[in-house]
Amino acid sequence: MGMFDTIHFEKPIPCAACQAQIGSIQTKAFDCALDDFRIGDCVGHAEELRIVRESLFCDACHVLDRQWIYLVVYRGILADIASDLATAEAQLRSFSFERLLLWYHDLYAQRERERRNRCEVEGFLHDVASWYEEGCDQMSHAEREKHWLLFLRHGSLLESATSPVAAIRAYLDERKSPEKADQLDGTPPSS
Ligand SMILES: [Zn+2]
Repeated sequence: MGMFDTIHFEKPIPCAACQAQIGSIQTKAFDCALDDFRIGDCVGHAEELRIVRESLFCDACHVLDRQWIYLVVYRGILADIASDLATAEAQLRSFSFERLLLWYHDLYAQRERERRNRCEVEGFLHDVASWYEEGCDQMSHAEREKHWLLFLRHGSLLESATSPVAAIRAYLDERKSPEKADQLDGTPPSS
């Protein structure tokens, strides 16, 4: 079997035969790169306007080719998933530019969140490496004070950790806490 992409539904669709919930389908209509797509994601080129019919497959009763869905692709973006062709065609005709702008806004915010998140993790890895390379773990508290500015963000975590592994563990635990997640989410993007 060749490659495919997975389309995830916003809400699971009940199987017509056994009512089991179907949460996604596989399709070969796009780049077939084992990608995961949801409504609002870019699946093709900007000139693409099309409707792709796909059969639902039920994992519970293995029924295939009894239920169809229609993927609405507007300007290369998966704009909607309709249960019949007439709805899909109507979606394609009435697609609103404002909706496209909202998606763009969401995708930009998501990119910024991921970028901040990556910078934060890289910063921590850098601090752990420097802390032990510079022998801060062997220093007296007074000696460490001189280095403190270099480790403003993670200094107290590193000081209370007994080893690099303990520091990483403490960092992972801290990131799991809800306040920390909020903090990462709420940081305004730096320019
Ligand atoms: Zn079924």
